[in-house]
Parts: sequence; structure tokens; C-alpha cells
Amino acid sequence: MWSWPSPSSKDRSRASSTAPWTAWPRMSGADTPEGGAPTPGAPDEFGDIARLLRPLTGGAPEALGLLDDAAIIPSRPGQDLVITKDAMVEGVHALPGADRALFARRLLRTNLSDLAAMGAEPYAAFLAVAWPKGSGVAEREAFARGLAEDFPAFGVKLLGGDTVSTEGPLVASMTLLGFVPAGRAIKRSTARPGDLVMVSGPIGDGGLGLAAAQGRLDDASGHLQRRYWLPDPRLDLIEALRADAHAAIDVSDGLIADAGHVAEASGVQITLDLERAPLSAPAADWLADQPDPLAGRLHLVSAGDDYELVITAAPEQARRLALPVIGAVTAGSGLQLRWNGVEVQAERDGWRHG
Ligand SMILES: [Mg+2]
Repeated sequence: MWSWPSPSSKDRSRASSTAPWTAWPRMSGADTPEGGAPTPGAPDEFGDIARLLRPLTGGAPEALGLLDDAAIIPSRPGQDLVITKDAMVEGVHALPGADRALFARRLLRTNLSDLAAMGAEPYAAFLAVAWPKGSGVAEREAFARGLAEDFPAFGVKLLGGDTVSTEGPLVASMTLLGFVPAGRAIKRSTARPGDLVMVSGPIGDGGLGLAAAQGRLDDASGHLQRRYWLPDPRLDLIEALRADAHAAIDVSDGLIADAGHVAEASGVQITLDLERAPLSAPAADWLADQPDPLAGRLHLVSAGDDYELVITAAPEQARRLALPVIGAVTAGSGLQLRWNGVEVQAERDGWRHG
């Protein structure tokens, strides 16, 4: 049995965006379980906290059982705390009517990808969800089930958050915390001329997976849709990045856009050889069917949602990283694209043959 806090009216009216679930629920008086069991038939918000959310803390003492107004995180001498936040809006960043478990897992995994790019080890999450009015307990259960599946797999514990309802679509935002040895986080602004540019895995699956999920593309094996919904954040690379990388970014906007972000932030020029970007077998099959191979490849490197990492490192360190090399960093500025040795020109509406 859970014992319930007795929130004062002051607690219930406070609308702090950072206080964990104990400052909530904001319910009508009739539904409020003042210090006792939830009213039969009423929305059981405290029950949701206990049954669905508290298990996600993994028993972490920092979460204070989600019973207090905030979490308390002891400092870790010699470590930097790396904090990232992402939000997902149904119908904008996820398909309408998306399975709630997949929605939750995608939110977590895309957020974890940002920690991976910084070389940070995942630690904890804060979660805010705005549920569309009329959402039922089955949807909240599915959302929590998705996180319950992925949190332990990635070493993440829930330390707090907030839940509200909305007239609009489902919106969820997650703040993720990770740790890295002090001063060792990887940034996008520290690529150096002479570096090689690498990518951690196949490019283009995310964009093709979205098209497949929308029914615009055949995906018999389901591989592409899985890559879209359940990207694998490259946390396996964080130790290697800390040891050998100069700069890194995860591919969310598209390989060429994100490589461009590194070039701009670092004040260097990056040249990418597009034919060297690795493709999965389904993406290679898709490309083989395209009438214009360069246009097809430009689509794959522009589409985004891959959540692989683009990494720059000096040649000796790049050899240790042993990842596919797709380009180089030189003095200068901006992004230069080549395809089989021919420069691809940037134009207002995209890229064209040289
Ligand atoms: Mg990112």
C-alpha cells in the first residue's frame, strides 16, 4: 500500500515547472484524495504517481520517492553535470496517434543521443507531460511502460516532473542529466583543421523510416521504422569520444546540416565526401531504385532523425576510433560537399551538381 501525502491547498495551487509530482495534482476539490485513498471512479492521479511513475525512480534516494517538492542531487567532485532538454509534440515531432510507449521511448532516446554526443554518461531524468483531455489510463500506462522498459537499459532514473492536461495534442518534455569527468565533455565548437570527420553508423534510415511510418515507403523488414521510432543513442562511444574526439554532434537535423553546425561553431571548413556516408541495406536498396543517384543520396544525408554521431578527431586518434571516415576539416568556413570527387554546389533551394 502507498501512503498518500496530504497536499495543502497552497501546494496544489502552486504551478512550479520544476517541482516533482508531489506539488501536483491540480484536481478539482471533489476528486482530491485529501490524505486518503482516491475517490472511487475519480481520476486517480496520486495512484498514477505511485503505480506508474514511482517505479521509474529505480528507488533512487535523490527522488525522495516523488513525495517532496524537488529532488536533491548530491554534487560529485571531479565530475561535470551535463544537462539537456528535448520536447516532442504529437503531430509535429511524432506521427499523430503514435503509440504512447513508442512516443515515450523516442523522446528518451533522442535526448540520450545528445548526452552521447557530449560524452556524458546518463544519470537521471525529469519529465513533463501535457496529456490531451480525454486521454485514458491505458495511454498513461503505455507511456510509463515504454519508459520502464528503456530507463534501466540506459541507466536512467526518474527524479521528478509534472503532469498537466491540455486542449491540444500530446506534448512531452524530458530533461536529462548526465555526468562526465570535469572538463572532458565533447563540444561541437572544437573541431580543428587537420581533423578527419567520421560518422558512427548508417545515415538516412531515420528519414526513410518516417516515410515508411507514414505509409509512403515500403519497409517489409520493419528496419527503417524501427530506426525512426527507436533510435539507438551511441552511448557505447562515450569513453572513446572522451579519449580521442575533438568535436561531436548527433545527427538530428540531417548529416549535412549537423556537420554544418560543427563547421560554424568551430570556425572551420568541413568537406564531406557524400559517397562515403555508410548506408544500411534497406537504404542502399532504396537508393538503387532512385532515378537520380545524387539526388537520392542528398535526400539521405539531409533527412535527419538518424541519431548517429558525427565526430572529428586528429588522424591518429581517428584510426583508434575506427569509424567510417567521410570527410576532413580544413581552415576556412562553411560546408563543402563532394560526390565521387565532383563538388556539389549549394543553391538557395538545396544542393546541385557542380
Ligand atoms: Mg543534438
